[in-house]
Amino acid sequence: MGLIVQKFGGTSVANTERLFHVADIVTRTYDQGNNVVVVVSAQGDTTDDLIAKAAEVNPHPSKREMDTLLSTGELISSSLLAMAIEGKGYPVVSLSGRQAGFYTNSNHGNARIHKIFDERLKKELDKRNIVVVAGFQGLNKYDDITTLGRGGSDTSAVALAATLHADLCQIYTDVDGVYTADPRIVKNAKKLDEITYDEMLELASLGAQVLHNRSVEMAKKYNVKMEVLSSLEDKPGTKVKEVVKMEKMLIKGVARDNNVCRVSVIGLPDKPGIAFRIFALMAKKNINVDIILQSIGRENTKDISFTCPCEQMDTALEVLNGELESLGAEKVEVNDNVSKVSIVGAGMQSNPGVAATMFEALFDAGINIQMISTSEIKISVLIDRKDSERAMNVIHDAFEV
Ligand code: ADP
Ligand code: ASP
Ligand code: MG
Repeated sequence: MGLIVQKFGGTSVANTERLFHVADIVTRTYDQGNNVVVVVSAQGDTTDDLIAKAAEVNPHPSKREMDTLLSTGELISSSLLAMAIEGKGYPVVSLSGRQAGFYTNSNHGNARIHKIFDERLKKELDKRNIVVVAGFQGLNKYDDITTLGRGGSDTSAVALAATLHADLCQIYTDVDGVYTADPRIVKNAKKLDEITYDEMLELASLGAQVLHNRSVEMAKKYNVKMEVLSSLEDKPGTKVKEVVKMEKMLIKGVARDNNVCRVSVIGLPDKPGIAFRIFALMAKKNINVDIILQSIGRENTKDISFTCPCEQMDTALEVLNGELESLGAEKVEVNDNVSKVSIVGAGMQSNPGVAATMFEALFDAGINIQMISTSEIKISVLIDRKDSERAMNVIHDAFEV
């Protein structure tokens, strides 16, 4: 008998008909003789709706109350799915994150799982119950509910698979696998039969929301066999694993991240220690700095620009404006109308032609590059947000991935 963890995303459990369909997938797996642990996300747009509702009541709610509110979305879907499975005559129990033993740190809104106390889970599985767990949530040491960050149910599923030594972790979603780019944006995107943990981690971290990046990180660490597949169509998906068959394809995919903004400190004195001071200020406020660009201006001045997540832009601006005089800077400018578009694949730096091909495709399309960053496994450019979908398409076409 095997143990399979199956995770269903928001679209997959959006309404009664879909819940019934998910119940069929789960009970079929159970009938094949497996123990099944199911993880669900909130139905459809529930999480977004709850965020909007909170904003009506209080534009700046505490993170603790926000987590308590958001965790309810997954409680609804888990109990409803359990009822659907129960209705088919199968033994089932739904568990909240807390009941399933998820213990996290106290970083509300983006908590990390410390440990899963699995006694209850094991007890239920020993009774041959199907266990439906509310994803995305846990409990901190103060007994408060935490959530794992947007898209975090994937991480709940992989964490359960790792803890329970599951044979397989299946992530059922509204596309039939991982593509070379978001298939809703790039019409020529191709489905991948398999992808390595490293490449998937990079794609997810660079904006491909098909998997929560921390779920991939965890799957790699604990060697969890993972598969992304459609909850709507019965066909093979994409396997995420350590090594894949050698292919000639150098570029694995194109990703876009809209949660970036650019901060520029203009007219800084061109002397040692300035970059250190700026980034020390950012570090003190836990600002997640990504791409950095320093350019030399006129008359011994320089400009320093960097990117950070949009929700941190106001804090960065406030801190830097407060230090303008002491830094000797002229002004700070911000731009939240940008996107980061990246290509991912092994061996970028040893293939100089790759960057040239990417930049040529953007040049031919008349798209201006504001910033560039490269690593062994990716090349990213910062561009105007309005150009980002076109950029993804022309880059994808240029590499014929
Ligand atoms: P779920 O609610 O099931 O967790 P998500 O919306 O989080 O689903 O993730 C699935 C979506 O990810 C797809 O609908 C697709 O638009 C998007 N996506 C982005 N990049 C990719 C990619 N490279 N391959 C497949 N889907 C992608
Ligand atoms: N419901 C949460 C979200 O919308 C978690 C998830 O879907 O994975 O982000
Ligand atoms: Mg998701």
